[in-house]
Amino acid sequence: MKAGIHPEYKEATIKCGCGNIIKVGSTKENMSVEVCSKCHPFYTGNQKFQATGGRVEQFKKKYGIKD
Ligand SMILES: [Zn+2]
Repeated sequence: MKAGIHPEYKEATIKCGCGNIIKVGSTKENMSVEVCSKCHPFYTGNQKFQATGGRVEQFKKKYGIKD
């Protein structure tokens, strides 16, 4: 590598919305993210984004239709 043309590679701290802090190597020092591997439903298995139910369930709820 040529000296002087590459950005400095340092340890960055990424802070997630859930409070989790991840340390990575980056050219930027600090970053913040909305979701990380600790709180993303894909990794946690927590289906919180689908907890409201599907379209049919929402429709039924809205109009008070019971099964
Ligand atoms: Zn997170």
